[in-house]
Amino acid sequence: MKTLVWFRGKDLRVSDHAPLTEALRGNAGGRDEGSVLPVFVLDPYFFAPEAARELPHRIQFLLDALAALAKNLGHLGSRLIVVAGKSTRVIPELAARWKVDRVVAHRWTEPFGRKRDTIIADRLRAAGSRLELFEGETLRPPGALRTKTGTPFAVYTPFSRAFRAATPLEAPLPAPKTLPAVPTDLGVTEVPIPTLEALGLTRNDQLQIGGERAARERLDHFRAERLRGYEDARDRMDLAGTSRLSADLKFGTISARTVWHAAESVAAAASDEALRTDRDKFTNELLWREFTHALLWERPELLESPFRKDFVGFPWRNDDDAWHAWTTGTTGYPIVDASARQLLAEGYVHNRARMISASFFTKHLLGDYRRAEAHYMKWLTDGDWAQNNAGWQWSAGCGADAQPYFRIFNPKTQGKKFDPEGVYVKRWVPELRSLDAKFIHAPYDAPALVLRAAGITLGRDYPLPIVVHEAARARFLETAAGHLKKKHVVLAR
Ligand SMILES: Cc1cc2nc3c(=O)[nH]c(=O)nc-3n(C[C@H](O)[C@H](O)[C@H](O)COP(=O)(O)OP(=O)(O)OC[C@H]3O[C@@H](n4cnc5c(N)ncnc54)[C@H](O)[C@@H]3O)c2cc1C
Repeated sequence: MKTLVWFRGKDLRVSDHAPLTEALRGNAGGRDEGSVLPVFVLDPYFFAPEAARELPHRIQFLLDALAALAKNLGHLGSRLIVVAGKSTRVIPELAARWKVDRVVAHRWTEPFGRKRDTIIADRLRAAGSRLELFEGETLRPPGALRTKTGTPFAVYTPFSRAFRAATPLEAPLPAPKTLPAVPTDLGVTEVPIPTLEALGLTRNDQLQIGGERAARERLDHFRAERLRGYEDARDRMDLAGTSRLSADLKFGTISARTVWHAAESVAAAASDEALRTDRDKFTNELLWREFTHALLWERPELLESPFRKDFVGFPWRNDDDAWHAWTTGTTGYPIVDASARQLLAEGYVHNRARMISASFFTKHLLGDYRRAEAHYMKWLTDGDWAQNNAGWQWSAGCGADAQPYFRIFNPKTQGKKFDPEGVYVKRWVPELRSLDAKFIHAPYDAPALVLRAAGITLGRDYPLPIVVHEAARARFLETAAGHLKKKHVVLAR
């Protein structure tokens, strides 16, 4: 049997790769040249220079990961065939030219990926071939878990309970030991993996390196050094207390199942309660990822509209000055500014900082979460449609199991609690480096003498706050209560 294995940006690995394993199995483990054809399509949807410029960090990580995948396939005796064009056209063309029996790939959760797959499946079928999709983006197929009444889960805790009560997850699949060779001349135009420069981008050395090996090293490091103590450290913005595996999970340079089992196996070997708690805390985060994918699978419209229908038509403000301050890290609230600058520089933001910053944008500034969601998608290396959308809707108060709209983070107290010495702020807002830690999260409260000692004049060296916390809070509460009251009257009719 001849199989085209279609790698497509969320599964850039050879370990625990069900389509690859299946392609070999269908080939009865044989080594016939050309029987397993690994392909990556450079679709202009992501790889046209104007598209790539809209996601510079993700493209860099993706190119690293593609290079690593090509190398790994090479080590196994195969090679990555890279072809440019729209995948809905290219894949059926390759399948026809090579007369493959089937195309195998991992299933995608997002509505546009599902639409693409339907088109390709139809085209392949019409040409006498077929598309076979495999699970592996998530731990369990999204949509597999339902409430007792058969409806999709809308609340995280019962979802996670159902997940843990279901059958244990199977072990990850090993990487193949060898792969059949790929003929040199396939009768198609192959292209090299593009360079960043060819896409109009320059390398950012502050980003994580992408690739299966780098992902495995991050996982090993987390398991050995950070899993113990995760519960306490995970919320601290000044500490490196989390796994930093989000981009790996996004691009599938490691599978969620591999990460899950790695965490489980550490604690299974240990008898101490604290480590078990750390493990459960960590795997709960993997289940948040699961939950967000299940939400988007069941409700594809979430990328366009809020989960809570009473938020439709919410009077978000479109204030360009506020937008500029929030995106450039010049709001006058140090923790918010640190997160904005970390995003642009590193393509990453600590989860606690994401929550504070998103709450500030949607509540203090009354900004439309969709605009900020797109900004995060542009700059995050781990930018993922399901997780990012859920994170923004959660923060805005309009998502599934969201933070209630009347819970508004106070940036000053959040900063004091989760960055007590201001280490995180000082790293990203160097103009405050000399400020006494007591005032690092609220320079606007610092006495003139303290500011002078730190060489800071507010409004010159660092901005005055663009809104006053109490007034902004009151404005949001009034706006939200007014809108929801009106909506409930309409929805109840
Ligand atoms: C406004 C907002 C936007 C977000 N956008 C994204 C995004 O685009 N991509 C993304 O991967 N995460 C997103 N998150 C979730 C979270 O912030 C990141 O997953 C986390 O910071 C990644 O760091 P880590 O890998 O060290 O996490 P760890 O604490 O080590 O967690 C392990 C893994 O669990 C998953 N995870 C952790 N927290 C969450 C969460 N709250 N929701 C869903 N999955 C989670 C991630 O895959 C993460 O890699 C967002 C959160 C918010 C509040």
